[in-house]
Amino acid sequence: MRTPRVLFVNHTSTMSGAEMVLADVVKPWRGSGAFLFEDGPLDRAMRGQGLTVVRARRGTGLSGLRRDGSLLRAIPLAGRLVATVLELARAARGHDVVYANSQKAFVLAALATGIARRPLVWHLHDILDGAHFGRAQRELQVRLANARAARVVVPSSAAAAAFVAAGGRADLVEVVANGLDLPADPAAPAALREALGLPAGPLIGVFSRLAPWKGQHVVLEALTRLPGVRCVIVGAALFGEDAYAARLRALAAERGLGDRVRFLGQRSDVPRLMRAVDAVVHPSIAPEPFGRTLVEAMLVGVPVIASDAGAAAEILDAGAAGTLVPANDAAALADAIARVLVPSPALAAQVRSAQVSARARYGAARMRAAVSDLILRVAAGDGTRASPMAGKAA
Ligand code: UDP
Repeated sequence: MRTPRVLFVNHTSTMSGAEMVLADVVKPWRGSGAFLFEDGPLDRAMRGQGLTVVRARRGTGLSGLRRDGSLLRAIPLAGRLVATVLELARAARGHDVVYANSQKAFVLAALATGIARRPLVWHLHDILDGAHFGRAQRELQVRLANARAARVVVPSSAAAAAFVAAGGRADLVEVVANGLDLPADPAAPAALREALGLPAGPLIGVFSRLAPWKGQHVVLEALTRLPGVRCVIVGAALFGEDAYAARLRALAAERGLGDRVRFLGQRSDVPRLMRAVDAVVHPSIAPEPFGRTLVEAMLVGVPVIASDAGAAAEILDAGAAGTLVPANDAAALADAIARVLVPSPALAAQVRSAQVSARARYGAARMRAAVSDLILRVAAGDGTRASPMAGKAA
C-alpha cells in the first residue's frame, strides 16, 4: 500500500504545548499537508518539516473565538466559518486522512470531512470539562466526535476520562502520552544561574503561558509566606490573557514581592532556566490535560511541585516523582515549596528516579510511532465510519 497522505489541521499558529506536540508528530509525514487558519510560528514549523501548507483564505481571527464562550459569538463569523469549511473540504479531498489537532480545528474538520468523505482523527489536547469549556461547546464537540471521528487521541487518562464523562464514546479513545526529548546540558546549575543573570539564594520557577487557569497568582500568594524565596515567572499571555498578565504584575507589587519576583516573558530556553532554579512549580487551578512542563522539569533533574489536578498525578507517578499539592491552596503550596527547598538525600533520589522515569515513559520517538501507527490503521479502514449510503446499498 502506498503511504497515505495526511492533512494536519490546526486553528492557531501560536506555539503552545499542543502545537509543539504537532510539530513533532508530523516528522514522519514529510510530503503530507497542513491546513492552518493563520500565519505564525506553527506555519513555519510545518513547512520546515516538509509539509505543504494550505492557509485558509478567510481563517485569520477565527482562533479568537473563546472556547468557554457562547456559540452565539460565532454567528457574525458564520460566513467565514462556512468558507473555511468548504476550503478545508477541498484540501481534504487531496488526502487520505484528516488529523485535527485542536478543538476548533476539529469542529470545522468534522464538517469538512463529512463533505469530503475522509476519515478524521482528533488529537484532543484538552480536558473537556466545565472548567475549560462552556456546556454548548462541550456538547457540540462530543456529538461531532461520536458521529464523525474515527479515533480520538488524548495525552493522558485524565483527558480520556473527561471526554467519556462529557458523553464521548470510550471505544474511540486512544491514550498517547506527549513525548519530548531534551538535549543533554553539561553546564552546572550555579554557572547557568550566573550566566542567565538570575539571583543567588532560594529560587523557584513557574514555566507556563500566562492564563488564569495556569494559576501563577497562587504562587505569588504562596511567596508572601516564604520570606527570602525568589521566583521567576516564565511565559507570556499567548491567547489574549493580557488582563491576567497585568493583574499578576499588580499583585506582585501589592504584596510587596516586586524585588523577589521576576517576569521573564516568553522564552525559548526553558530547559536551561529550569536547570538554574531550585524547584519548578506548576500551580494550575484547573485540571491539566498533560503538562509538558512537568516532563521537562523531570528530564532536567529539578524537583517539581504541581497541583494535584488532571494529568499531574499520572506524570508525577502519584507523588513518587514530585510533590502533589491541592490546587488553588497557597498555604499548602508554600509548605511544599519550603520542604523542597531543603536539600536531602531522599529528595535527590526522587529527582534522579523521576529523570529515569521521564526518559523511559515520555520519549518523542515513542509518541511519533504510536500516532503514526494509529494514522496508518485509520487509513487502512480501522475505525473508519461507513458512509451514510452503505446501509442503503446493502
Ligand atoms: N514554554 C516555552 N516558553 C515559555 C513558557 C513555556 O517554550 O516561555 C513551553 C514549555 O517549556 C512547554 C510548553 O511551552 O514545553 C507548554 O506546554 P504545556 O503542555 O506545559 O502547557 P500548554 O501551554 O500546552 O497548556
